[in-house]
Amino acid sequence: MNSTQALNAIGSCLALAMERGLGKNGLVFPVECKEAEDDTFQNSCQNLQQIFAQMNESYRFAEALANGELKTEVSRSNIFAMPLKALQASLRHLTWQTNQVADGDLSQQVDFLGEFSLSFNRMIKSLRDKKSLEQRLKTITDVLGEGVYLVDTEGRLIFANPEAERLLGYSFQEMTGEMVLHVIHKQYADGTFFPPEGTQLGTAIRTGQAYNSDDCVFACKSGRLMPVSLACRPVITGGKLEGTVIAFHDITEQKKYQESLQTINALLEKQASTDTLTGIYNRLKFSKLLAMEISRARRYQSSMAIIMFDIDKFKEINDAYGHQAGDSVLIDMARVVNANVRTTDIFARWGGEEFMVIAPSCTLDQGVQFAEMLRFRVAQTTFSVPRKVTASFGVSVFRSNDTELSLTNRADNALYRAKGNGRNRVEAEDAEAFYHQAGASRPPTS
Ligand code: GH3
Ligand code: MG
Ligand code: MG
Repeated sequence: MNSTQALNAIGSCLALAMERGLGKNGLVFPVECKEAEDDTFQNSCQNLQQIFAQMNESYRFAEALANGELKTEVSRSNIFAMPLKALQASLRHLTWQTNQVADGDLSQQVDFLGEFSLSFNRMIKSLRDKKSLEQRLKTITDVLGEGVYLVDTEGRLIFANPEAERLLGYSFQEMTGEMVLHVIHKQYADGTFFPPEGTQLGTAIRTGQAYNSDDCVFACKSGRLMPVSLACRPVITGGKLEGTVIAFHDITEQKKYQESLQTINALLEKQASTDTLTGIYNRLKFSKLLAMEISRARRYQSSMAIIMFDIDKFKEINDAYGHQAGDSVLIDMARVVNANVRTTDIFARWGGEEFMVIAPSCTLDQGVQFAEMLRFRVAQTTFSVPRKVTASFGVSVFRSNDTELSLTNRADNALYRAKGNGRNRVEAEDAEAFYHQAGASRPPTS
């Protein structure tokens, strides 16, 4: 083969490669160089053959790089592969840097890959910003005197701050991934378990609603049920619900305080409305209840009787047996009458040895009968003093234009007449005189 033929063969081999690409075998040098040829021709053939081999090798090397195989070796003398080797070195370094970032080293910077460097460095900056925000949030939640849980949309724990760990006794490690609703929020304060449909907190976590409550109970690791006040808010990123933050604190002391306050208030209320000697309602409470009963009777046009009674010759009892014995008589009197009034009646000490009964739904005649029964019971009772104790009774009935004063005054007047008429007796208000004065017609008495 002469030089022209060899050149033609090489030219068509390269043209074919440019047209079809390199096949499985790469570029095959198309000239067979025999011993007979001259030295110059042989040298040129050898050089060209070497160039073909280097081109084949760098092509395979580029292919390997394109596939991400960064460990592929290439001969040092291959001049075509040199820029590729530089790229290989850069990519290997970049891989190492990326691993450093993955291990938390956000100080990595890339300055050898042009446009790519800018993107990588921007990514590092945004990771650094995110981390510093996370650290600031962590510092805040670390010092917060409030337990903070972060749960995913199914209620699995993804974050707990130290206060949450302290309050419930579960470390973050042991609770990570646990369903918060199964572990810490499953029971009412009395220990019974929630119904299968769950609770408002569960619904808030699932649906991403904001929810506040002062009436939740969390179960501590120790088994103690802790009343908590909580606020939960959804975490929404890019319009998508990511989870829920639950902030909570222990309100055991507050609950105890509220309960004792309620007890004290109830006690104070009772004290303010009770007569200390007899334990029945005092005059203040009686006035309030009478006002209520009057407006009720007026609204429903129902009748209502008032009975006022006063112990007969009580001064003599005091004088004869002493004040303390007098007190015992007052106590016994309250007990006897209390045992004979209906639950709907209102019985109170009016003052001194005077008492009042409000008998709702009673006409004047019924009120008089009721008072007569009470008078009889009192007269039948054996008191702690060695003498018979009696009382006198005055009865009035509600009229639509009555005030508390007008109604009680008429009972007082009737009582005054009972005293005047010999004591230990019942007198009704003077209905005729009343109607004569008011110019009204007389209602039926029963
Ligand atoms: P009358 O039959 O007219 O009602 O005669 P009375 O003696 O009951 O009436 P009077 O108003 O003269 O006397 C009432 C007495 O009741 C005078 C007062 O010292 C006494 N008294 C009032 N409150 C108490 C009390 O809380 N305890 C005792 N032991 N006595 C009381
Ligand atoms: Mg008296
Ligand atoms: Mg009196």
